[in-house]
Parts: sequence; structure tokens; C-alpha cells
Amino acid sequence: MCLFCKIINKEIPSNIIAENDDFLAFHDINPKAPVHILAIPKKHVDSFIEVSPQTMSSMTSFIQEITKEVGIDKTGYRVITNIGDDGGQEVKHLHFHILGGAKLKWGHFNDSDPKNNL
Ligand code: 5GP
Ligand code: ZN
Repeated sequence: MCLFCKIINKEIPSNIIAENDDFLAFHDINPKAPVHILAIPKKHVDSFIEVSPQTMSSMTSFIQEITKEVGIDKTGYRVITNIGDDGGQEVKHLHFHILGGAKLKWGHFNDSDPKNNL
């Protein structure tokens, strides 16, 4: 079972923000912005390559609700999904990074300079 499936099953603890039958949102363990949330489908999908338009439809609403809940919907934020090796995906369970709470630079997720992004 993958890491995020274990988080979904509560075998690994996480700081959960929102949960419904289909999706889970929790704080990233290594935040790269004042707000750094991961939103994931509960059904295991390796990456964006395989996700269905139906899942993406409700995922969109879920992400929009989370940003309202944490109060970044008016100030703005960034949604990122890393895909595969070239995309820098480390956890092979589809996840959307929601980053906000500060003016973000384009360098977020630039591996060469991760500490200079805040
Ligand atoms: P990726 O590089 O695959 O797009 O992003 C994986 C993300 O998962 C990283 O930002 C990393 O900090 C986060 N992460 C890895 N392991 C854990 C964990 O056990 N708990 C939480 N909350 N986040 C994790
Ligand atoms: Zn999984």
C-alpha cells in the first residue's frame, strides 16, 4: 500500500483539514509556503496521467472549498500536481499541492533552490 493510501486509512497520522467520501486534504509535512496542503483522491490513482475527468470534476470543487476554509481564496494561491519522473513526483498517488499565504515566486518546487522560495 502506498504512503498516501496509508494516510487515508489512518495507518500514518496526518494533520487533516477536510475529508469526504472521495477526497482527503491534509497539511504537507514539509511546507514550502505558509499554507501548503495536499489534496488527494481516496481511490488510488498513480498520477494525473490516469485520473478520470469525473474525478477531476469533483476534485476541483473540493480544492475550491479547502481554499475558502483556510482563507486563501481571496488572496490567491497555486495548485500544482507533479507528474512522473520529469515532473518531480515523489509519491506515486495523485496529489494536488495547494500553496498560499504569501506571494509565491515561480521558483517553488525548483529543486536547486528549495530554501529560497519563502
Ligand atoms: P511530490 O514531490 O510527490 O509532488 O510531493 C510529495 C509531497 O508529500 C512532498 O511535498 C512531501 O513533503 C509530502 N510528504 C511526504 N511524506 C509525507 C507524509 O508522511 N506526510 C505528509 N503530510 N506529507 C508528506
Ligand atoms: Zn495510494
